[in-house]
Amino acid sequence: MKFDVVIVGGGLAGMTTGISLQKEGLSTAIISGGQNALHFFSGTFESLSAPEPRLATLFQEAGIHVHYKEGVRLMPLGTFRPSALSLEDISLFETPKIGRRALVVNFLGYHDFFSSFLAEGLEKEGLECRIRFISLPELEQLQLSPSEMRSVQIARKMDRVWEKVVQEVRVLLKDEDTVILPQVFGLLDPSVPGRIRQGIPAQVVFAGTMPPSVPGIRTQMLLKRRYEVLGGTFLGGDEAVSAHIHGGRVHSVVTRNLDSHYIEAQWFILATGGYFSKGLRSNPFEISEPVFGLDVEASEDRNQWYNPSFQADQPYMGYGVKADSSLHGIREGAPLENLFVAGSVLGSTHPEFGSAAGLAINSAFAACDQILRRHAPQDDTGCHSERSPKQDDTGCHSERSPKLDDTDCHSERSPKGGVEESQKEM
Ligand SMILES: Cc1cc2nc3c(=O)[nH]c(=O)nc-3n(C[C@H](O)[C@H](O)[C@H](O)COP(=O)(O)OP(=O)(O)OC[C@H]3O[C@@H](n4cnc5c(N)ncnc54)[C@H](O)[C@@H]3O)c2cc1C
Repeated sequence: MKFDVVIVGGGLAGMTTGISLQKEGLSTAIISGGQNALHFFSGTFESLSAPEPRLATLFQEAGIHVHYKEGVRLMPLGTFRPSALSLEDISLFETPKIGRRALVVNFLGYHDFFSSFLAEGLEKEGLECRIRFISLPELEQLQLSPSEMRSVQIARKMDRVWEKVVQEVRVLLKDEDTVILPQVFGLLDPSVPGRIRQGIPAQVVFAGTMPPSVPGIRTQMLLKRRYEVLGGTFLGGDEAVSAHIHGGRVHSVVTRNLDSHYIEAQWFILATGGYFSKGLRSNPFEISEPVFGLDVEASEDRNQWYNPSFQADQPYMGYGVKADSSLHGIREGAPLENLFVAGSVLGSTHPEFGSAAGLAINSAFAACDQILRRHAPQDDTGCHSERSPKQDDTGCHSERSPKLDDTDCHSERSPKGGVEESQKEM
């Protein structure tokens, strides 16, 4: 398999690069290991202000509806957090004084929405709260087991029966000016939260539940659909385990599922996320990046990784792979000329991109710009029309022997954490 660009990681950063590059006419593949931070998403894109035109276009074309207002949003336990750019179903308020009386509505048997903690928190802000539970025949099967009564399972039903929820809430509503519902609406149909708001004669606020996040999964599905509509190849449920690196260039990656079929490309993007997504791995001795063996910005003294004060900022959370100012990944002190890094795998090593979703999106756009600036289309033979000095005698990466000698693999270099293990499978 051969592409212009192979992107490792299908979270917010990987999807942003894939969509942007497909739109520019490059052929891309995204290798996506599994769950990503969007599955735990609050609905607020942190450290982003009103979307710049290209982000606004990306969201609009993917069918992701956002709004922007500097203020606060309601958290699952009834506290408030500063927020700005958010999905449309996340209510943004100027202050935590969001109303006078609230009706908090939960589903019978649903334990992942903490209605009483939520009400307690809101009462501290001066809001009088009344909690009520509703039960719908469509949820009866799920109610038989708490492990089935989860946000996504409920959301699958709600896309069809949300009107019944509106009817039930209308019956329950007395003199409350605010209704609070769990964020379990609009999984497949993003218009549902808006239609619920229209149907209830009070301010409707959707509050976060325990993961998985329904707004986050919807966002991921919309991004994936947009990517595939643009012709991208999404290799879901697979994992890049190692890479062939030679002469300062990445030539191909090996995945767990495709085994001996190398995935070749002119350019590669690393967007594998932080520790949570296994983009970074740690053991008692080191922190490593397992696919390309990139250098990681981290203190060599393990005692410096943690701050003993539990609530203080933890240094290890800021660690990430090293990349130069053009976002080339750095390996053994030198940049790899066709590998760019985007998203939270960068840690806080590039503060210019912001943090959280801001880091994912801004660095993804920056990595795309770097590739688009350099990309030379290939000719009919599959060779790069502009020959790179690092190519072999045929002038064509694709014609190199698929059986790389040992020096081509980073298994030969000093083993780094999980890298060593992954190389054994080659
Ligand atoms: C639990 C959690 C909740 C968060 N909530 C928010 C929030 O509400 N708002 C906000 O602004 N920010 C939030 N963040 C910050 C978050 O990191 C960014 O917002 C952003 O979504 C990160 O995107 P990413 O693409 O860089 O990484 P990720 O979302 O982590 O995606 C990386 C992907 O790469 C895949 N992957 C890893 N290794 C491989 C491999 N070898 N081969 C193939 N695939 C691989 C992973 O499976 C994963 O799917 C949260 C972070 C976490 C950890």
